[in-house]
Amino acid sequence: MDFEIIDKDVMGRIGKFETNHGKVETPTILPVVNPNIELIPPKDLKKFGAEIVMTNAYIIYKTRRDEALEKGVHRLLGVDIPVMTDSGSYQLMIYGDLEITNEEILSFQSKIGSDIIVPLDIPTPPDADYDTALNDLKVTIEREKSALTFKGKSLLALPIQGSTHLDLRKLSAKEALKIGGDVYAIGGIVPLMDTYRFQDLVRIILEVKSVLPSNSVIHLFGAGHPMIFSVAVALGCDLFDSAAYAIYAKDDRYLTPYGTKKLEDLHYLPCSCPICSKYSPNELKEMEKSEREILLAEHNLYVSFEEIRRIKQAIRENNLFELVESRIRVHPNLLKAWRIIREYKDILDIYDPFIKQSFFYTGIESCYRPVVRKHQDRILNVEIDKEEVVISTDEGELADFYIKPPFGVIPAEMIESYPVGHSEVPQAELMEEEALKMAVEGLKRFLDYHSDKRFKIRVNSFWMKYLKNLPKNVVIECLDRRKDLDLQE
Ligand SMILES: [Zn+2]
Repeated sequence: MDFEIIDKDVMGRIGKFETNHGKVETPTILPVVNPNIELIPPKDLKKFGAEIVMTNAYIIYKTRRDEALEKGVHRLLGVDIPVMTDSGSYQLMIYGDLEITNEEILSFQSKIGSDIIVPLDIPTPPDADYDTALNDLKVTIEREKSALTFKGKSLLALPIQGSTHLDLRKLSAKEALKIGGDVYAIGGIVPLMDTYRFQDLVRIILEVKSVLPSNSVIHLFGAGHPMIFSVAVALGCDLFDSAAYAIYAKDDRYLTPYGTKKLEDLHYLPCSCPICSKYSPNELKEMEKSEREILLAEHNLYVSFEEIRRIKQAIRENNLFELVESRIRVHPNLLKAWRIIREYKDILDIYDPFIKQSFFYTGIESCYRPVVRKHQDRILNVEIDKEEVVISTDEGELADFYIKPPFGVIPAEMIESYPVGHSEVPQAELMEEEALKMAVEGLKRFLDYHSDKRFKIRVNSFWMKYLKNLPKNVVIECLDRRKDLDLQE
């Protein structure tokens, strides 16, 4: 399958791939529809922004098999957009046993004309013991191998399993890559999301991404909450499926990109979708449960697709980092999880474009963006033709180089150009210590690299405590003390 990448930012991308029922633009959400419970008619899902839907082949097989074989899954659901079918692995996880084989469910998905088929993998829950996870994975890999026979004209999604064992996740991705899927679907992660274990989720995604080629389509199985979309897209996930819009609605829960609200706690509706514009929280609370459930599900879909469009626009503007850094502040576990990217510098460096339009500093996480480190590397190659070099923290002063956190050393002639010239960064005195230390780290590397030169660093006294243990070829001059001296004279 061809995955055409149109634009990218961080590790995320806007892409397109072709199915038997038309193109799909990613990142996107596949609303999950149960063919037997019609909450929102599948044909109406397009109006929310759906380009593809997901349904459960196992449930169709158990309840409407003959009809599906006769009509095909699209006519059964009444849609003309692509349909992905799930194999029943989730039911397998819940009920422990299914009266169907891998081959039967694959053949059925193919016969009913599914656009993306999935083998019956074993979704091992988080924290499973190693042997269990490994044995489950071996079964999954065998089933993935036999799936190739049933592929036909459909696309094949290969689940990535392995519980919370990162080496098994990598093994799963490597084996799936050898088999050759069209989509790689990271599975078994819903329990992590339900319990806010975002650190585990981030690690799993990054380990899997480190194995798969950059043009692989990545599906995050069962991820349907808008609060994690920006982080997941920024880590390179392309597809999400959402049963959450319906499950949460059933439970009177209201989705927002900042987290979940209970309808009973809402005095105001913080959204402008057609539902929230029309009804007040009290009107929703007072209406029949069945009517309310539909309206909440509709809001949940509107807000989910709105977040996807916001993320796509951020990719277009190359400010996905800024969006993610605002989103991670909605939950401490999400904040902690994002900080893990520091451990995956190499992979982030490969994906994230160096040149962007702007750099807005939002907090210490902004220091982890590859551009900061890449700038520090790049600056080492700047040629210095003077014997004595002046570095200053004050841009108003004449100097050869300036110090600007979090970037470090900036040549005077580059002060107007990207990244520094296009950055919005608070003044040093108001910045977090981490950003200042990052700048000093860059400065020290620069000084070490040019150990044959003499440097005069002119700083205000605020900087003094950060500039300890500098090499011998450096003299520090304190700007505000010098001013004091001037006054005394
Ligand atoms: Zn709304």
